[in-house]
Amino acid sequence: MKLNILIMGPAGAGKGTMSELIEKKYNIAHISTGDMFRNEIKNNTQLGQRASEYIKQGLLVPDELTIEMVLNRLSQPDCDNGYLLDGFPRSLIQANVFDTKVIETPKDVNLVINLTVDKEALIDRIVNRRICRKCGAVYNINTLPPKQEGICDECGGELYQRADDNRESLERRMQSYEVETTPVLTHYKRLNLVHDINASQTIEKVWADVEKVIDEYLAQNTQKEEM
Ligand code: AMP
Repeated sequence: MKLNILIMGPAGAGKGTMSELIEKKYNIAHISTGDMFRNEIKNNTQLGQRASEYIKQGLLVPDELTIEMVLNRLSQPDCDNGYLLDGFPRSLIQANVFDTKVIETPKDVNLVINLTVDKEALIDRIVNRRICRKCGAVYNINTLPPKQEGICDECGGELYQRADDNRESLERRMQSYEVETTPVLTHYKRLNLVHDINASQTIEKVWADVEKVIDEYLAQNTQKEEM
């Protein structure tokens, strides 16, 4: 059964961590627009050069660049089984174009998982976040440190801090979330697709809540398909 999910939440809410778990369990393509942009920047492509100007400052990359990149990615065959969109749509324009393109297709959205955390906890998580350059695993130097400082437990890769994980960029990212992304949530709430999850809990508890939402959706819709 197809399973198309959007995962939403401000920077530091744990979208990356939950996405890794969802991808592994449900075998759907994880599409993170932030990771895609960082990859373009690493490869010094034209798109990467344009995007990095905005990302460094904690601003959103212009909608037309982002939408084109996502629609291209969704047309790839690994998305036929379903997708997990992490970090998109982040503005009402993106949501409207996206919905119009997918609404009549098997790529329409089934569930929106919204991770909620209070602002103070977010700042702490972001400033202490470290990421593996090789496999993307996420650590926190206080609450989830690697066994050996600077080295990934999973693959031995080097851990780094994202260039935009500093207080100044973070303030702007939070502001842009409030102003541009909150209306996207309201839009999907009206469509009754949003499931709020308290992401201030431990990773295990957040994951249990996420799994419950997805499993309930699958159980209800598998029944419908069988009827
Ligand atoms: P993330 O890894 O999701 O925190 O994204 C990092 C940065 O990439 C954001 O602060 C934005 O500058 C840019 N970005 C990611 N997704 C989008 C999007 N859907 N629209 C515009 N900019 C984006």
